[in-house]
Amino acid sequence: MRKFAVMFSALSSLSLSIYSPLSFRHSSNARPATFLRFNFCFRAMASHVVGYPRMGPKRELKFALESFWDGKSGSEDLEKVAADLRASIWKQMVDAGIKYIPSNTFSYYDQVLDATTMLGAVPPRYGWKGGEIGFDVYFSMARGNSAVPAMEMTKWFDTNYHYIVPELGPDVKFSYASHKAVNEYKEAKSLGVDTIPVLIGPVSYLLLSKPAKGVEKTFSLLNLIDSVLPVYKEVVAELKAAGASWIQFDEPSLVLDLSSDQLQAFSHAYSQLESSVTGLNVLIETYFADVPAEAFKMMTTLKGVTAFGFDLVRGSKTVDLIKDRFPSGKYLFAGVVDGRNIWANDLATSLSILQGLENIVGKDKLVVSTSCSLLHTAVDLVNETSMDEEIKSWLAFAAQKLIEVNALAKALKGQKDEAFFSANAAAHASRKSSPRVINEDVQKAAAALRGTDHRRATGASARLESQKRKLNLPLLPTTTLGSFPQTLEIRKIRREYKANKISEEEYVKAITEEINKVVKLQEELDIDVLVHGEPERNDMVEYFGEQLSGFAFTANGWVQSYGSRCVKPPIIYGDVSRPKPMTVFWSSVAQSMTKRPMKGMLTGPVTILNWSFVRDDQPRFETCYQIALAIKDEVEDLEKAGIGAIQIDEAALREGLPLRKSEQAFYLDWAVHSFRITNCGVQDTTQIHTHMCYSNFNDIIHSIIDMDADVISIENSRSDQKLLSVFQEGVRYGACIGPGVYDIHSPRIPSTDEIAEKINKMLTVFATNILWVNPDCGLKTRKYTEVKPALSNMVAAAKLLRAQLTSYK
Ligand code: GLN
Ligand code: ZN
Repeated sequence: MRKFAVMFSALSSLSLSIYSPLSFRHSSNARPATFLRFNFCFRAMASHVVGYPRMGPKRELKFALESFWDGKSGSEDLEKVAADLRASIWKQMVDAGIKYIPSNTFSYYDQVLDATTMLGAVPPRYGWKGGEIGFDVYFSMARGNSAVPAMEMTKWFDTNYHYIVPELGPDVKFSYASHKAVNEYKEAKSLGVDTIPVLIGPVSYLLLSKPAKGVEKTFSLLNLIDSVLPVYKEVVAELKAAGASWIQFDEPSLVLDLSSDQLQAFSHAYSQLESSVTGLNVLIETYFADVPAEAFKMMTTLKGVTAFGFDLVRGSKTVDLIKDRFPSGKYLFAGVVDGRNIWANDLATSLSILQGLENIVGKDKLVVSTSCSLLHTAVDLVNETSMDEEIKSWLAFAAQKLIEVNALAKALKGQKDEAFFSANAAAHASRKSSPRVINEDVQKAAAALRGTDHRRATGASARLESQKRKLNLPLLPTTTLGSFPQTLEIRKIRREYKANKISEEEYVKAITEEINKVVKLQEELDIDVLVHGEPERNDMVEYFGEQLSGFAFTANGWVQSYGSRCVKPPIIYGDVSRPKPMTVFWSSVAQSMTKRPMKGMLTGPVTILNWSFVRDDQPRFETCYQIALAIKDEVEDLEKAGIGAIQIDEAALREGLPLRKSEQAFYLDWAVHSFRITNCGVQDTTQIHTHMCYSNFNDIIHSIIDMDADVISIENSRSDQKLLSVFQEGVRYGACIGPGVYDIHSPRIPSTDEIAEKINKMLTVFATNILWVNPDCGLKTRKYTEVKPALSNMVAAAKLLRAQLTSYK
């Protein structure tokens, strides 16, 4: 142990001396521009970073945004926090020796929304009247306002980041409406940092869009390419005029299975841009998977493009394509430092990959980079002062990854920092052999699950009959999905308990009171199946991870999920097991307060996996099976304690779906199997619910049905009821389903009529006896002043329809 502590301190003192954003922030008035410029030229190696977290090491941006949205501070305050964060990030990259430093990777909400704003593609309902788009219109698109709901949000590829989906159609008039990219380039320049401005590439932008309301579903968004390019050209011209010598187009869609038309759109777009970009080095950056051979061929023959960035962590096969046919004289940005995880890079292995690549592309054409934007990892390990030292020695967050990138770049240039490399090698060796990683019993039990099937013995329709008799529910039963508003008071109680400032007795009393309040409220609202409100949980994954073995936690390891929302993924470093029941106490307390059914509330294995930083030393399915076994024990303990309905959330099942079709069936197979393992042992009368966020389910609907839950609730209201269309198209579903009837991401309160209309639409698709009525998701981010009227309208709408349905009979 001591040995590792010493090794780590070598690492951490290194990063500490290199990174001190706060001192910089405080001195930013007397801007050390010359110092920066000097540093920049003197130390920079062939190193690059695709993008960087925006929130700040202590989520400074989150708090500034929320205070602005609440009207507690003005736009200048928000802009000041944002500018300070950008400056400190650039400074940090300069200090780490990064040569190609990105700009315009900052965002007040989302980089795709920034592109929509740049292109002036504001849907008419947000009332934009032309001119430079300001916070008003920008945040209305992102969050909705009292009059109109927000734009749809969906997952950014297979990450837990969510972007705002552009809505486009033949009538959209694109115009240059936000100069953010140029402004940020100039801002960095005034600090002495010559950056690479980053734009979402025009083709990925269109491929990530959806047809606006009323536009034919068959409308090809790629038809708009010639309308967006003039704006891109204007931006490029301005960047050039401002002195930019590089530009980075993020084209992550290139890793998908694209049709030849789609590939053709890339060739077309970049040949159209060719004359505008002369004099600039153009980097096309891809990430999140291998680039398919066809796409690789197309992109590397584009004229006017001088550099290509590849994710060599998730896309290890791309290395073969590079070896095979990388164009001579072009730059290769080799993404060897993982932007999606928190493990320290295996520097020796990376170095040998890089050396191999250097032989192909040439010494001065190889740039060491991150696999993708560091947006998807935690910010700075330096802030983890109370983490176990051995585990800490195995990790690298964004700030440490900058150092790794530069260490590799230096090593390539013959300036290998031997001490840094050997500390890294020792940390890897300790992780491999550590007894805290290995639990042989768990490994055996998980291995035994493979190759056999696990599902409930009775079919869904017979189970539902038994449950109907036991639970005695009305038509269109109403429920909510778990959490109730997390008030400041509740957060304070949890915080104080954690810090040992209040006793266990006081804590239990306070949480019990809160649960009682939530139960009484639901009874008053006349909801049919109740929840306890989850006041004891700060996060649906962390809560379980904290009680399972094999998990570690960070104090500040936040990762942006959407807008100002961040999550703090646990780190799964070892074999997973459940030392004792995790939720039985609170569920029993809640059930004792009411005669109505109280749903037990668990997070499913796939979601725990997908929302954690997962170990990279065994296959993901292996870890998932281990978690499934732990959750299975919990499900059975809840049943024994008399809980008749148990919701096992699989909010993140869809997002773990591999991007490439060839890998999807395998994932779905083990993911759905893991879910079934958790509840294959319960009685017919125990009703298993599951809940999933986002309705991009059309392509995996058969797997969702194969989960064999009794009741599925799915987000629906923010995506124009896309979900219903699958069922309209004839997919048969025998169990119960609750497509969300209102959007919980927005403060807007839906009216009874509006909800009734939604339910009516659902009734044209689903049989009356299988439909449930519930919101889209948990209510933890909302306020009671929003939740009470919204739920009251929801129950009123359900009752209205029940009355209509029975009077028709
Ligand atoms: N039960 C969870 C909650 O209500 C579900 C949240 C989610 O699906 N993201 O908070
Ligand atoms: Zn949800």
